[in-house]
Amino acid sequence: MTVIRECVNPECTFRYPDHDSSHPIAYCPKCGQRAEICGIFPESNQLSFLEKKNPSFHLSILLDNVRSIYNAGSIFRTAEGFGIEELFLCGITPTPQHARFSKTSLGAEQHLKWSYHPNAVTLCDQLKKSKTVIISLENSAQATNLYAFQENIFNKNALLVVGNEISGVDPQLLQMSSYIFAIPMAGFKHSFNVATAFGIAVSYFYSLSLS
Ligand SMILES: [Zn+2]
Repeated sequence: MTVIRECVNPECTFRYPDHDSSHPIAYCPKCGQRAEICGIFPESNQLSFLEKKNPSFHLSILLDNVRSIYNAGSIFRTAEGFGIEELFLCGITPTPQHARFSKTSLGAEQHLKWSYHPNAVTLCDQLKKSKTVIISLENSAQATNLYAFQENIFNKNALLVVGNEISGVDPQLLQMSSYIFAIPMAGFKHSFNVATAFGIAVSYFYSLSLS
């Protein structure tokens, strides 16, 4: 069950979920006054849909020199949720062997096939020979709007490449790509965080695979 508390201080009113409800009395983490239980809610039931892997979604992921262990772990967690077939970790990308990896992956690596490759270009050469369609996610001049793409190409083997947080996808990998997609941006920033961009793209591709 979920216990919600609220601070009694009318100037504060801080409201938060209490994850340690074994203590009957709790104090506000903001101002230190008493925080009273204002609601106890039953645990919600599991979703009844999308419990099985979509058998017609064949997408693998290449992480090309992703620097941050948190981004790599977060991508693993999202990949696992979408039933991604395989992850290729290239260059400086941290692998699940790193001690802090599971902090953001939450152990998703135990359910995913992954391998490490020092050179992403050599790997993509091999994958292209086995008829894998290479897709890059990159805000470059050659890119087209992700949402303008309407084809379901995911019933055959496709590979999504995401790149380094600063320099993006290796220019030679872009040259080898059949598609380069950019996510349109409405704000002042010119790019999303790499793990967020990955989540946006994989969610969109998943929805295309259902059509
Ligand atoms: Zn308070």
